[in-house]
Amino acid sequence: MAETVFSKIIRKEIPAEIVYEDEEVIAFKDIRPQAPVHVLVVPKEPIETIADATEAQAELLGKLLVRTAEVARQLGIAESGYRLVINHGRDAGQEVLHLHIHLLGGRPFGWPPG
Ligand code: 5GP
Repeated sequence: MAETVFSKIIRKEIPAEIVYEDEEVIAFKDIRPQAPVHVLVVPKEPIETIADATEAQAELLGKLLVRTAEVARQLGIAESGYRLVINHGRDAGQEVLHLHIHLLGGRPFGWPPG
């Protein structure tokens, strides 16, 4: 897998506003926030895209979701609500090839997303 900016953030080689970290997962504020709360929740293990995740990584993916909900609680948006997004491929415009969940909150979001 190619080196990404997220690997550098995980290794603390470049700065980021980290809001949560444990052995397997890191969460930091998006540099171009699209909502009052916009955090990227990232597995430290480098998986390029959701389509590259294997059965052996199913437990890690489950933890990623559970920890995302925990981060949302810590950031105080669990009650008002939030949106989770995983972009994949050209039509979704995935920019960074290291799997991540966008945690967006602090304002209402329309549906369908448009
Ligand atoms: P994607 O389009 O891949 O789902 O989203 C990548 C996200 O990473 C974008 O929302 C972008 O603003 C964010 N991002 C890109 N480079 C950096 C960076 O160096 N630091 C932080 N904190 N976020 C970044």
